[in-house]
Amino acid sequence: MQNATHHDGRFAPSPTGDLHIGNLRTALLSWLFARKADARFLVRVEDLDRSRVKPGIEEKQLADLRSLGLEWDGEAVRQSERTGLYDEAIRRLDEKDFLYPCFCTRADVRAASSAPHGIPGHYPGTCRNLTERERAEREASGRPFALRVRGEGARVVFEDRLLGGQNYPVDDFVVWRNDGSPAYQIAVVVDDAEQRIGEVVRGADLVDSTPRQLFLADLLGLDAPRYAHVPLVLGPDGERLAKRHGAVTMADREEAGETPEDVLAWMAHSLGLAEAGEEPGLDTLLARFDPALIPTDPTIWRPR
Ligand code: GLU
Repeated sequence: MQNATHHDGRFAPSPTGDLHIGNLRTALLSWLFARKADARFLVRVEDLDRSRVKPGIEEKQLADLRSLGLEWDGEAVRQSERTGLYDEAIRRLDEKDFLYPCFCTRADVRAASSAPHGIPGHYPGTCRNLTERERAEREASGRPFALRVRGEGARVVFEDRLLGGQNYPVDDFVVWRNDGSPAYQIAVVVDDAEQRIGEVVRGADLVDSTPRQLFLADLLGLDAPRYAHVPLVLGPDGERLAKRHGAVTMADREEAGETPEDVLAWMAHSLGLAEAGEEPGLDTLLARFDPALIPTDPTIWRPR
């Protein structure tokens, strides 16, 4: 159920690597959407995946936001300090029998989901229909298991503020990882509801997570936010921007002699909010910003 009417927004980086100018542009957009509506803008550090979190990165990410002037309300929260909320949500789903253990390895899933008729990247349901005995045998073997939710191809329809009507099937996706930590999908849903986020503004690469998140919000009886998936910045090769594309982080840009104001100006120009060479401040950008006028095509970043 998408019924939020307020516009509180958030930026939710994973501290797994430095933010690049595409991530920073998404943060700027999320800030503009919220502030334009006189709403709160929150920052949430998505640090649950301990194998990918790198020390010191969270501090650098927050410092980059500050240097651009993107201030947030209250303290940034960390998902690693909120695991009780996710445990509780998992318990509620499990109680209603929406979950089942999955013993598949990554390779099992890859092999099964590349079979004909499968949807690429969708779990084909291998462990959904294990008999009690098969399940008990696997558990007894000590193999670690994940918990999957029974999506079973349910269709989720939603309206994205920028991309328009979306309609996707939901597979049986993981909500609890086999390393004993909550998965991104459940943590995001619980947090967006608990933090009373009205509108999620994030990169277009996450649009296919949204049906899963709406599905979970519905099962948990939580208010779901509205969504605006914003265009990405791509490398010259058309791939998602990454380190290998050159000097793409704030630190890199500063090393190349740019100031945070220069970086902001590049973002603003790429979004049609500034002329080339002009360096408007955040107040000016806010005055000019109109969500209806955001370009819908990705921006190609050219090394310079
Ligand atoms: N933490 C996620 C990422 O950095 C973003 C999650 C979200 O905005 O919902 O890709």
